[in-house]
Parts: sequence; structure tokens; C-alpha cells
Amino acid sequence: MGQGVYFLKAGKRTAMRRPMLAVAVLVGAAAHLPAQDFETTQVAEGVYQFRFQSHNGFFVVTEDGVVAFDPISTNAAQHYAAEIKRVAPGAPLRAVVYSHDHADHATGAPVLMDAFGTRVPVIAQDNAATKLATAGPDLPPPDVTFTDRMTLHFGGRAIELHYLGKSHSDNMLVALVPDARVAFAVDFVSHDRVGYRDLPDYHFPDFYGALERLMVLEFDVIVFGHGPPGDPASIRRQGRYYGSLRAAVQQAIDNGWSEDESAARVRLPQYEGWGQYEAWFPLNVRAIYRSLAGND
Ligand SMILES: [Zn+2]
Repeated sequence: MGQGVYFLKAGKRTAMRRPMLAVAVLVGAAAHLPAQDFETTQVAEGVYQFRFQSHNGFFVVTEDGVVAFDPISTNAAQHYAAEIKRVAPGAPLRAVVYSHDHADHATGAPVLMDAFGTRVPVIAQDNAATKLATAGPDLPPPDVTFTDRMTLHFGGRAIELHYLGKSHSDNMLVALVPDARVAFAVDFVSHDRVGYRDLPDYHFPDFYGALERLMVLEFDVIVFGHGPPGDPASIRRQGRYYGSLRAAVQQAIDNGWSEDESAARVRLPQYEGWGQYEAWFPLNVRAIYRSLAGND
């Protein structure tokens, strides 16, 4: 994957020695989880994916400090801060950015800031502000918002924030680090995986427009909110998947099939190898059925 710039960050890993993790492995409760609770992967110069269990954060190191996306949770944020300090010793935290308002990605900014002994702006797309107005102290509303596009400048580095329209949530932003040609996009796209369950908080047909606009951004590597990084071809495959899914479900509707019948009968065999196909594909069919039938 990637184009030769995707490589594991060398560095000591200490997570396996954590007693908490050892217990989880012993009782087998975490059998579906990756072997390590968290890890940090360098995807380009000064650009990192931070994975905590099945969620990914993303941070950019500049000569004037660090911009961290998606603290994930209060627990994750503690490890996130420690990992930033490990790969960028002494670098201050400059800003926290929410990819979107969902609590499983955006929670924990105060923990992240406390670890750095600082208070920095929280940045998000406009629509996240109202959603988070009463979310609580672990998920404070943004201090700075933007409508379509905002560019952060730290230490000679630009970090672009693009709002591509409603996709998954009505406030999903995509980050782009032009000098590294790396993007970060959460939940509405992934690397060779079908959509999440019955596509909760996905907005159709706006979603298709957001996918089109994502394909126009210039990146070589794209980090996702879940799963491994991908590249522009990953996004083109996502586009083809949703196009095929929509066509297949429209055919089912034209056949007069019910939603249940469609969920049971519609298949896209060429995507059987994709992540979560067996579990989530029938739910994807239901979501598209409802959107096309106007039952959303
Ligand atoms: Zn989400």
C-alpha cells in the first residue's frame, strides 16, 4: 500500500508489557482486537498515524510543534500524548482538530492538553459546534470553526482542512498535508472495507459528491479513521464500490424486492474479499435501499 513512503516507525514498543493488556489477552476478551492496544506509524516525514485499538488518530510534527487530530477517547488520549512525546520529544502541542463530531473519535482533547500542560485551540468544521455544544467536558465544542476550507501554518508547514460536504456526519473534514502528500479521512472511506454497518449518520446523495471531491485532492498516502492507510486507488475503489452498490440496490427496487429481500439477495461477489463484507454488506444494502426508496 502507499507508494513507498509507508513505513513503520522504528522505536521501542512498550505496550506489550502493560499489565492491563496482558489481562485482556489472558481472558480472551480482546481476541478480535489487534495484538497491541496502540501503535504509532510514520507515514511520511513528520506525519504519523496513531492507532488505539480499532481507531486511528493522526498527527503532524512541525518545527513549531504538533497538530493532533482525533483524540479518540480519554484513555486513548493518554497514550496518544505519550506517543507524540516519544516521536517528537519536547515539541509543544499547538492545536487539536476533530475530523467530525462523533464521540468515538473526538473525545479526550482535555486529556491530551493536560498531558502537555497547555490549552490549545480545538478546531472543527462549523456544523460540529452545535452538535457538541452540550457534549460534556471530555468532548468540548471547538474554539475555532470554518465553513469550507482552512489552512493551519505551523513551523513552515501547511495543514489544509477541507470540508467536502456531508458524507458521514454533516461536519466531516479531510486533512491534507501538501508537502508530504498525505491526507487523513475518517469513517466515510477506508482501505478495501465495506461501509460501517447500516451506514449511520451517512448522508445520501451528498456522500457521493464528497467522495468525488476527495478524489481531486492531491495525496499519495491517505490515513483513515479505521484500518490501514491507503492511496488514491483505495479511494477510487471506494467510489466504484458505492457505485456498484447503488446500482445493485436500484435494480432490486426495480425488481420489486422488499428491503428484507434485498438484504438477503443482493451480493457483490467482487467485494467478498473486503473487510467486514459478510457482517456489514447486507446492512449496507439496507441503508442504500432506504436512501433510494426515500425511507431515510
Ligand atoms: Zn463517525
